[in-house]
This record gives sequence, structure tokens and C-alpha cells, in this order.
Amino acid sequence: MPPTPPDEALIAGEWRRGAGTASVTVDPATGQPLATVHGVTVEEVAEAAEAAARAAADPRWRELLPHQRARLLTRIAELIDDGAEHLAALQTADTGKSINETRALVASAAGTFRYTAAALETAEESITPARGAYLTMSVYEPIGVVGAINPWNSPVASDAQKLAPALAGGNAVLLKPAEWTPLVSLALGRMVSRALDELGLPAALLAVLPGRGSVIGDAIVRDPRVGKVTFTGGTSTGRTLAHAAADKLMPVSLELGGKSPTVVLADADVEQALAGVMFGVFSSSGQSCIAGSRLFVARELYDDFVGELVERVRKLRVGPGTDPATQVAPLVHHKHRDSVAAYVDLARSEGARVRCGGTVPEGEAYADGAYYLPTVLDGLSNDARVCQEEIFGPVLVALPFDDEDDLVDRANDSVYGLACGIWTRDHRAAWRIGRRIDAGTVWINTYKQFSISTPFGGTKDSGLGREKGRDGIRAYQRQKSLYWGTSAAPLPWAN
Ligand code: NAP
Repeated sequence: MPPTPPDEALIAGEWRRGAGTASVTVDPATGQPLATVHGVTVEEVAEAAEAAARAAADPRWRELLPHQRARLLTRIAELIDDGAEHLAALQTADTGKSINETRALVASAAGTFRYTAAALETAEESITPARGAYLTMSVYEPIGVVGAINPWNSPVASDAQKLAPALAGGNAVLLKPAEWTPLVSLALGRMVSRALDELGLPAALLAVLPGRGSVIGDAIVRDPRVGKVTFTGGTSTGRTLAHAAADKLMPVSLELGGKSPTVVLADADVEQALAGVMFGVFSSSGQSCIAGSRLFVARELYDDFVGELVERVRKLRVGPGTDPATQVAPLVHHKHRDSVAAYVDLARSEGARVRCGGTVPEGEAYADGAYYLPTVLDGLSNDARVCQEEIFGPVLVALPFDDEDDLVDRANDSVYGLACGIWTRDHRAAWRIGRRIDAGTVWINTYKQFSISTPFGGTKDSGLGREKGRDGIRAYQRQKSLYWGTSAAPLPWAN
């Protein structure tokens, strides 16, 4: 176990113990406590917001040109690289995720800061076509203070996806990690603090504010100094937050839940599809917003494909995240494991056949951890609750389909619209189906691949707005238009 960071939050530029409710984070592989984290109070949120507003307006930050701001992001990326093994081990301990995955997430976090630095240096503002005796320009300015609220499933990556563009946009950030997994955000906060200090920038440009979402998250959203909130989490929380934002007429970006269809057409490369379907739903133990949790297989292929899939799923290696051989690690928390188990019980009561899994693994090695076996269900129709609701665990529901219209109707019969996977050798069918599916991202003959340079986000109840890509920074800025008169003639007055 690496040393966990001292039990301090970053409030108003100062590392100190929060005066709020203490909570104990637990290693989900062992059930053992990792650290006691003292959350902040609502008053400390206000203090942090006030300091952040001052930091955002501080000329040392406000007057930096984009290429100068980019230096901060590059330095943070270097510090992440230097501390990569520590961050990965800490995230494995706090979230249970496999070490292979957390190493990849840490590398992607550093990549996010680097990419955003490059995007910032090369972002252009525009001179728009003039329609009179003036020059028209469109420029972008910081919002001021941004609230960033993240879930527990991939803290280092989701923190980076919010911090990098928000800082690049010239803002200060109040970051609230999930109560179950605050340790990585606190460790990343230390790195950002160090980079700010080295570059002589205001320390309060970042606050890391642990605490319960309904209290501390809510206080961030409602604070009058916060001009935008960027949120990743569940749809019902996102909706609550959007209501609060509406009262302030404040923009929000929402990255929410999913129930993504993966489609296997009759002509698919079966080997590739089997591996892709398993990785798409069971990596991260299914705790991924884009998990391909509904599997639609062409009826003529269905029995063979699902039969072989079940055989292979039974062989997936379930174990602690610290073992590099592990494929399915424990879930984030025992309470969450129980919620996943309850969904499988619900599926049984809805008439599902449990083709594999459907229980906790046996054996002493698993006794204290939040483990659940990778599970394949079938025999249900798409309106069953386990086909409609996000389980956020290692549970796949398989369904046969008859033709393309039937497939598209049922794949789209969901409140969610986050992602979709299509396995086929027919590029025309892939194009047709990919364009007809309601989803922010469609993977064709691959799944769960991510690139910081490609915009990401959901439709329907899966969210609002896009993260990543060159325009990701613009989501953290206000656009301003300037008209600059070029004629010496007086303006015409009516008549
Ligand atoms: P959650 O319960 O919605 O919590 C997300 C964050 O919001 C946590 O930090 C939580 O704090 C905070 N929060 C809770 N109530 C709040 C309120 N009233 N006001 C402000 N903040 C509040 O979600 P989760 O269970 O942690 O995460 C799983 C969900 O995230 C899944 O639905 C998953 O699909 C989604 N997700 C989406 C994406 C995407 O990019 N689309 C990526 C990853 C995850 P506490 O936890 O401390 O209470």
C-alpha cells in the first residue's frame, strides 16, 4: 500500500483538515479501512468559493496569455507522470479497480493535461465577416469559478477531464470528489498545488472539497460565485443539479448514466466480437457509464454466440485489483455490490435465465471483498427493468433480434443514449445502424476506446454537453463579440 496523503482538504489555497463530517474510505478488496477523510463544511465551501473568485481575478492568472497558462497544464502533466505509480496504486486501493486499468487511467490523465495545453496554445479566436463599417471579432473569456463534481468510478481520469479544460479556460475550480473515493483527487490536488506554487500562481485556483454530495456538492452548485458546474454522475443527481442551476441561470455540463447496446450482426468476426463484448461490459467490473450492458445478437447466431460467450465469461479471472492478472476486480463498495446483487435477484423474479455468475464468488480470498461474479442473463424482453435501468456492475443482458428495424427500435427503446457498439463485416450496415442509434458515441468493430481529442457526451437522459476535443476548453469560457468601428462618419440617427 502506498502512503495515503495526509488527511487534509484544499480550502482557499490552504491544505488543512476540513471541519465537516469525517468518513472512512475502505479498500473494497479487503473491507479494511484506508483513511479517515474529514469533509468540509458548507461554510468552508463559501470560503473556498470566495478565495477562488479572487484567484480567478488575480492579475497573476487573469493576465496570462494562453501559451503562458498552458505551462501550468504541462507542469501538472509532468507531476502526474512522476507520481504515476503512486496515483495508480492509490486509485486501485480506493476504488478496487485493477492496477492495469488504473495505470492506464493515470497515463490518460497526464495525456489530457498535455493535449489541453496544446489545444490552448493553438486555439484561435475569429474575425467574423463584417456587415458594416466595423470589424467584428469573437473572443473567449473565463467564466470565473467552475464547480466540478465527480463520481467514484474513475476519479483521476474524470478529474483531469474537468480540471484541464477549466484551468485552460482561465478559471478557478472547486473540485468535489465522491465520498467513497476522495483519495486520488486529494493526491492530484497536491500536484496541482505544487505546480501553482512553482509557477507563482494563486494557490486558491484549485480547491478540493470532500464531503457528502447532497450537502457539499449542493453548496457548490448554489454558491453565487460559481458560474458553471460540470458534473459526472447518475441521471437523477444530474437532474437535481440542473434544477438548482436553472434557478441561477447557470450553464451545466452533465455526463450521466447509460444502458448501452452492443450489436452483433450475423456476419461479424465472432472472435473479435466475443472479446469486444466481454471487454465492453466486464472491464472496470461493469462500473463504467459506457458499459455495453445490453447485447443484441442476430437470431441466427444467437445460441452459438451466447453459448460461447458464457463459456468464456466463466473463465474471466476474478481477483484483487492489485494482481495484474485480474480481469474482474471487486466493486467499489460493499453497498454497491449489494445493489448489483439485488438487480440480479430482480432479473430472476422477472423471469431471467442466469447463464453464468449471478452470485458472489466462493472462497476465502473473496470473503471480505466486494466481489460479484461476471453475470450473463437472457430470456427477458427489452422492457424488463434490468434492460432499462443502469446496474453499473458486471451484468450483461443478452437479447436476440430479427432484422435491422427491430434492432434499431429496441436498441433505441431506452431513456439513455450514451454509447453503442456494432460488430459486423458489412460497412454499409455499420454506417446505417450507427447513424440510426441514439448515442453520443458509436464504436464499430471496437469498443470502449477513448481519445481525449474526440468529443464525448450523451443524448437523452445520458447528458447534456460534450467534453474533450479541441472545443472542450470553450465549454469553460464565455464567448464575447466585439464591434470595432472603422469609419469616421457619424452613426445614422433614425430619420
Ligand atoms: P452520483 O450518486 O450521481 O454521484 C456523483 C457525484 O455527485 C458524487 O460526487 C456525489 O457525491 C455528488 N452528489 C450527489 N448528490 C448531489 C447533489 N444533490 N448535488 C451535488 N452533488 C451531488 O453518481 P455515482 O453513483 O457516484 O456514480 C455513478 C454514476 O455516474 C452512474 O450513473 C454512471 O453512469 C455515471 N457516470 C457517467 C459518466 C459519463 O461520462 N457519462 C462517467 C462516469 C460515471 P457523494 O458521492 O459524495 O454523495
